[in-house]
Amino acid sequence: MKQLTCTGPGTVEWRDVPEPRLAEDGDALVRPLAVARCDIDLPLTSGAFPIREPFALGHECGAEVVAIGDRVHGLEIGQRVVVAFQLSCGTCRSCVAGHSANCDQYPVLSDFGMQPLSGIEYGGMLADLVRVPHAQAMLAPVSAKLDSVALGSVSDNVLDGYRAVAPHLAVLPGSEVLIVTHGLKSVPLYAALAAIALGAERVDFASNDDDVLAVAERLGARPIRTEFEKAERRYPIVVDAGLTSAGLKYAIRSTTPEGICQSVSFYPGGEMPLPLGRLYTLGIRFSIGRAHAVSLLPEVMPLIEAGRLRPQDVTTRVVDWDDAPRAFLEPAVKLIIRRD
Ligand SMILES: [Zn+2]
Ligand SMILES: [Zn+2]
Repeated sequence: MKQLTCTGPGTVEWRDVPEPRLAEDGDALVRPLAVARCDIDLPLTSGAFPIREPFALGHECGAEVVAIGDRVHGLEIGQRVVVAFQLSCGTCRSCVAGHSANCDQYPVLSDFGMQPLSGIEYGGMLADLVRVPHAQAMLAPVSAKLDSVALGSVSDNVLDGYRAVAPHLAVLPGSEVLIVTHGLKSVPLYAALAAIALGAERVDFASNDDDVLAVAERLGARPIRTEFEKAERRYPIVVDAGLTSAGLKYAIRSTTPEGICQSVSFYPGGEMPLPLGRLYTLGIRFSIGRAHAVSLLPEVMPLIEAGRLRPQDVTTRVVDWDDAPRAFLEPAVKLIIRRD
């Protein structure tokens, strides 16, 4: 079968690889129907993380189940699903605690489509078939009525944006939210989408990226064009989404005393200065970490099924499956690759 593969910095092509088979009785095989490009995919294909060997691409997708192991219950052949991008067993101590991104059974950063991070190849979603272990935990069933293109990013970037604001708005309902975007593209937009859907009184969106600002405005957030020199206002909930020290500093300076600054940034390549004295003096809580896909899917899917959260509103480009090698490296705020 064909697997979209990154063979070196800036080089992406279909490669023939063996079809996966059910290996354990808790496995499922799925056929990806719509795959989104994650905000980390271009840094991955550009070589921002060292590429030691060719690796499979794609880790956010909506799919259909084509085979299931004997021990998988509640799923059937043909069922539409969203596939968690992180390998998580669903039953270990970390998974049960809701920390499924750090499942006890897998080395750190064990994800589909991100071999340069973990050093282990788990396969990618831009393929005809994908073997999903722990299918009962890692597959979230979805209604066949939902458009698969709308679900392309749900298993990662949508969840990531949601969790950036949802727990904080639950503590401070209706709060004003600022999202600071300095390098990421879709995760901060999904955070804006979630903040608006969850009833934030005001959602401001600060960035130096005009394309992302335009989408934010379309979603109903207030765009703030900035080069991150001076914070203009303070907010009780601030989301930091990016790659630069100037953006991070701006996010922290925009947080009210005793407020929360939630970072969804992965900050590749070393250390990032953090003004601990300011955080201490003002009692600003700075929180950072990965989203927990398996734990979050049951919380987020009902919002999408009910039409309260519309991930499709962030999508800026949809291409056919055969166009994936070319489109994958081209600029777009949010790219979805779909199969006919
Ligand atoms: Zn991702
Ligand atoms: Zn686990």
